[in-house]
Amino acid sequence: MLIRKTVLVYFSLLAFLFSASAQNEALSKIDIPELKEYLTFITSDELQGRALGTEVDGLEITANYLAAYAKEIGLKPAADNYFQTVPILHTVPSTDDFIEVKNKKGKSVYRSEELVKLTQTSGIFSLDEEPVTFIGFGENIESLDINDKLVIVAQGSAESFSGEEKFEWQNRVESTKISAIMEKQPKALLVITNPKDTENKTFKQLQGWMSRSGYSVKTNDDITAQPAVLLATSKVADALLGKKGQYLKYLEKVAAGSEAVIEVAETLSLKAGTKPELLEAKNVVAYIEGSDPVLKNEYVVFMAHYDHLGVGKDGDVYNGADDNGSGTVAIMEVAEAFASLKVKPKRSIVFLWVTCEEKGHFGSSYYCDHPVFPLDKTVASINLDMVGRVYDGPRDDVWKDSPKKVKDFDGLYTLSNDVWPELAEINATHCAELGLVPDTSLPKERFLRASDHYHFHKYGVPILNYATGYHADYHKVGDEIERINFEKIKRVADLCFLVGFDLANKKDIEF
Ligand SMILES: [Zn+2]
Repeated sequence: MLIRKTVLVYFSLLAFLFSASAQNEALSKIDIPELKEYLTFITSDELQGRALGTEVDGLEITANYLAAYAKEIGLKPAADNYFQTVPILHTVPSTDDFIEVKNKKGKSVYRSEELVKLTQTSGIFSLDEEPVTFIGFGENIESLDINDKLVIVAQGSAESFSGEEKFEWQNRVESTKISAIMEKQPKALLVITNPKDTENKTFKQLQGWMSRSGYSVKTNDDITAQPAVLLATSKVADALLGKKGQYLKYLEKVAAGSEAVIEVAETLSLKAGTKPELLEAKNVVAYIEGSDPVLKNEYVVFMAHYDHLGVGKDGDVYNGADDNGSGTVAIMEVAEAFASLKVKPKRSIVFLWVTCEEKGHFGSSYYCDHPVFPLDKTVASINLDMVGRVYDGPRDDVWKDSPKKVKDFDGLYTLSNDVWPELAEINATHCAELGLVPDTSLPKERFLRASDHYHFHKYGVPILNYATGYHADYHKVGDEIERINFEKIKRVADLCFLVGFDLANKKDIEF
């Protein structure tokens, strides 16, 4: 009996030593010359800052580079030839918008191009000689019959109108009001700015915000069929009420308690919209299949966004060496380390390089809405976003008040959600092995939303996010490869391997 026990101990010790040496051998694949080689390519000016809309499609070139690399090191394609296409709408405001009022006799009494579209829908929206319904400040919306009508509502509230003369656009107030009105399905909604705002400050401010071209992930909804929400000045309302100054009088009465709903004999015609262009960006998705027949259907995901800011108005190229060339190349090396293991981990390991984080997390939100691997079988998503810097002297002092100021050589910002608390412990154990000091002080309510991990968090997946912090070159042209600390990237990549190896082999994971 005693002998058997000893033999068992001996064998399990052997197995342990074997796995430790296999791990060490795999870790030796994560090396600095390769990190440098990959980052040199990714941050070259020729790629024009890896963004949509540049002359050279650096985003596509980077995606192809990552896919070719994944293939070369033997990762399996998880999606169509390693690519998950992310459909993106590029909307440019149309140039022939107008708004026009006709009197009872059908004669044009007001026409202007001063019109702002408040919804980011695509396509051209138009109405012709439509009767209008004024509803004051949009109070008591519940009781109003406005279905299929062209509705006119005042900016602000009766209270703010009667109070001091502030015309600022209160986004929260306005959007609550607008959604309540839109729930009643009017034909369209026209918001009119405060008539006391004689210099049209609010209108000009919103015109500035909304006139830029924009990018958004294309959804399946037919957004062109949705009614428009528009903004105009009180001149339109005066024309509809027949005389200059009438709109101010009307609002004063409403604020004093008069009936808000009125219909007039004048009609409104309008045309507004955006010209949509459909673009395609790509997530790169590759994986290593798990070696356990059951557990291979569970996944550990490593993620990094590979895009950056593109080219500035002055022609400067934003190469984004730290943001997020660093995370992109770290994962390349982590993948190579896992691919080199003779015996693969039990669970499958996914490498996800996501696109268009800088435009609004497009790649990661699309992946989570259309997961290639089931999210309820994803035991963790580990996101790397800016992992290549250490404190760079007085230059970085500008960030001294930031909750995520750049870290020293041993420090690492580590963010986790509360879905599976053990994940943070596993991380701390492996940090200690490497002499890294996890800093978990980042306020979650802000930083859980700050990068791609947010979308996994939204779907209840345990997440880890690594970062070395904000620095003086954050989102500046100075975020160049010369300021990268490759030792630091290697330490983070080593950590990813150890944490990933542990997670992928762990017996039972329940949360
Ligand atoms: Zn980033």
